[in-house]
Amino acid sequence: MELLDKIQTISRWRRGDQRAPHKPIMLLYALSQYKQGHERLFQFESEVDNQVKELLVQYGPSRKSYRAEYPFWRLANEAEPFWEILNGEQCVLSSQGDPRKSDLNKYNVMAGFDANSYQNLISNPEMIEKIASKLIQDNFPDTLQEELFVRFGFEVDTSTKQRDPNFRINVLRAYNYRCAVCGFDLALDTAPVGIEAAHIKWKQYSGPCEVSNGIALCSIHHKALDRGVITLNCELKVQVSPATTGGPMVERLIWDYEDQKIGLPRDMSFYPSENMIDWHIREVFKPV
Ligand SMILES: [Zn+2]
Repeated sequence: MELLDKIQTISRWRRGDQRAPHKPIMLLYALSQYKQGHERLFQFESEVDNQVKELLVQYGPSRKSYRAEYPFWRLANEAEPFWEILNGEQCVLSSQGDPRKSDLNKYNVMAGFDANSYQNLISNPEMIEKIASKLIQDNFPDTLQEELFVRFGFEVDTSTKQRDPNFRINVLRAYNYRCAVCGFDLALDTAPVGIEAAHIKWKQYSGPCEVSNGIALCSIHHKALDRGVITLNCELKVQVSPATTGGPMVERLIWDYEDQKIGLPRDMSFYPSENMIDWHIREVFKPV
């Protein structure tokens, strides 16, 4: 089985529609390091713990705790193996089969792609790019993809962007080509500028391309929604993450809309659906 195929099974590791970014983020981190000439294995304590945790905080869903040890360890348990752990024999495992962080540090545990896969990767740099593209496109929405390509140092790949033109037009029409949060509706003659059809529940997690899973937003509010800066509550009022920082412009563009009802379509059947909003609150919004 090819390495890319083995890694593609990642999307099948998901539990329902819960976001599970641990393994993709661990792999993206390892691949970006290989691209910069890193050797095969990573030491947990100095190279993974804080680095991967930081990425999980930024790009993962909001959770009580962030554990870099999960993907570092669990990637080695796949049915089609490609990841290897060194020095792990003495770690005491929990009932879920996970090691304690203190043991990973104590025994100097290291992990990375197995020797075969590593050879394959460093002799085919384009394979690193290909796998990274796949991981980013399968796990993150369009608004975050470019940011992630740049953040990890991969070539930006928009080739496989799947667009549903009907979704875009239907959403923009329903909202009168106007940002539902701030009312921004710039157009050059009749062509909208900077107004986008956002998915509330991401396509990557089988969010449907229906107007009730969509909302027309300006580019700023689209990005803010996808990053978890803002969400909606059940009364369709804007909620702002307490983690939001910034000066007077952020005050005007974000905080001024807190608890304000969004601009809604004429047709009630187009209103954002509660299920989709619940998913967004649970899996994307940063409530703390
Ligand atoms: Zn806006």
